Amino acid sequence: MSTGNLHRILYCSDALPASATTPALSLPEILRISQPRNEAAGVTGALLSCDGRFLQVLEGPMTKVLETYGRIFRDPRHTELKVIEAARVGSRLFPNWGMCGAQLAPVDTEIVRVMASRGRFNPASLSPAKALALLAAVRNMQTKQRGDTEFLV
Ligand code: FAD
Repeated sequence: MSTGNLHRILYCSDALPASATTPALSLPEILRISQPRNEAAGVTGALLSCDGRFLQVLEGPMTKVLETYGRIFRDPRHTELKVIEAARVGSRLFPNWGMCGAQLAPVDTEIVRVMASRGRFNPASLSPAKALALLAAVRNMQTKQRGDTEFLV
């Protein structure tokens, strides 16, 4: 995948519960929709779902990242989107993942380690570095499951 003109958007949001017209969106469903679209666009990243909240990073060519984020922003199945970081970057942190994802509970080790508390998961309070550390942990878990140790840190 191309490494020129690379951008990253890191954001969080709150999942909305199912309504009469809109079914709730599960993590496997998001990944099923996202992976082929992102791969076709040269977008990579990771998504964490925890306690009714999402934390996601998208990286790739600026126009493709903005297009993808635009679609996500308009999605009526989540709300309260907050961009934690939007920046030009020199390299990808998730080069082998059209989108890797994991559903964690607030008591999972990685969440507790990064959030330093067992309260409700609140990604909006995280610094970009801590949010990325959490998403890197998701990537490492998925990499391990895939039996590929290339990106384990
Ligand atoms: P269409 O499929 O044409 O749908 C039109 C609109 O209706 C869109 O706003 C869509 O979001 C909404 N919609 C679609 N299905 C339903 C439904 N069953 N009920 C209610 N509304 C519906 N997509 C990616 O391509 N890459 C990602 O990395 C990615 N990450 C996501 C992360 C999160 C947390 C969420 C909530 C969604 C994510 N999506 C991602 C899905 C994205 O929001 C769009 O739904 C998807 O990309 C299809 O976009 P579209 O414009 O072609 O919508």
